[in-house]
Amino acid sequence: MNATAQPPIRHDWTRDEILALFDLPFSDLMFQAQTVHRAHFDPNQVQVSTLCSIKTGACPEDCKYCPQSARYDTGLERERLMAVEKVLEEARAAKASGATRFCMGAAWRSPKNRDLNYVTDMVKGVKSLGLETCMTLGMLDEGQAKTLAEAGLDYYNHNLDTSPEYYGEVITTRTYQDRLETLDNVRKAGMKVCCGGIVGMGEEKTDRAGLLQQLATMPDHPESVPINMLVKVAGTPFAEEEDLDPFEFIRTIAVARILMPQSHVRLSAGREEMNDQMQAMAFLAGANSIFYGEKLLTTANPEANKDMQLFKRLGIQPEQREVHIDEAEQDEVELAGALEEARNDQYFYNAAK
Ligand code: SF4
Repeated sequence: MNATAQPPIRHDWTRDEILALFDLPFSDLMFQAQTVHRAHFDPNQVQVSTLCSIKTGACPEDCKYCPQSARYDTGLERERLMAVEKVLEEARAAKASGATRFCMGAAWRSPKNRDLNYVTDMVKGVKSLGLETCMTLGMLDEGQAKTLAEAGLDYYNHNLDTSPEYYGEVITTRTYQDRLETLDNVRKAGMKVCCGGIVGMGEEKTDRAGLLQQLATMPDHPESVPINMLVKVAGTPFAEEEDLDPFEFIRTIAVARILMPQSHVRLSAGREEMNDQMQAMAFLAGANSIFYGEKLLTTANPEANKDMQLFKRLGIQPEQREVHIDEAEQDEVELAGALEEARNDQYFYNAAK
């Protein structure tokens, strides 16, 4: 990290300024993104999260990209809310393979109050393993956000998906304003915000700029900004969308990095379709977080060991976790960390053979 004087973090970006960044020659944009990235982060560290679908499919919403919507026939097998112990088993496995944050997603419009008892038990259990916790459960009212925050939930994910102008082409069952209100409730409850969107859904460049403008003009930037490439799932209305130019995807990451210098920009869904070179370019553009593991909710994700091999080839280290624990837990966690490190060394060794 370079501590030289940096311009203050801005929250007043205009659409034209953002479009001007998108229009820079590619090398100039990458250089600017790299400069900002290095001023705020170690460029050789990438945060690693694992995603677990705790309740799959049968969602009443109509998001046109989503295989979990009950409105589209995608052949996805529906699953009920997972038992708490099963979730903890997955969390232990995620930790053993190097994840520092465990994200739990449920395909709900919003959680029912009876579900909250289970999910708060999941939060407490996962935290006790020394992992950061994140959930995505749909819309939250003020009380639900408070309940989750009191259970110790660190992050809440709720994406804006696209620009306010293009939003109606993607979802009709909830409004942009509904989403902003959930994000506001999450902030007010004191949780960190994970919020981003999806590109490649047939939107224009001005919509990609509009999405980033919404995020970058929030009073506090989201701590985590997932940038997803549309995964075209057969049976969803967006299954036949035209491919987005891969450089346009990299530009979106670079612009996000410049606008929100202190946020973790996450290379998220769609990574399965990207080759190693494209992922490396995304890291160069300032992406510094990935999902890792066999599944990203319901779409395939490059297997964990492939990620570790790529990290090794690029000289990237998984970022250390930031879980805050009291001193009594410290010794146990340090011991677990040492064991984990030993396991990872072994893993790297094997992967290199
Ligand atoms: S994106 Fe979320 S809210 Fe939309 S259909 Fe899928 S699971 Fe439901």
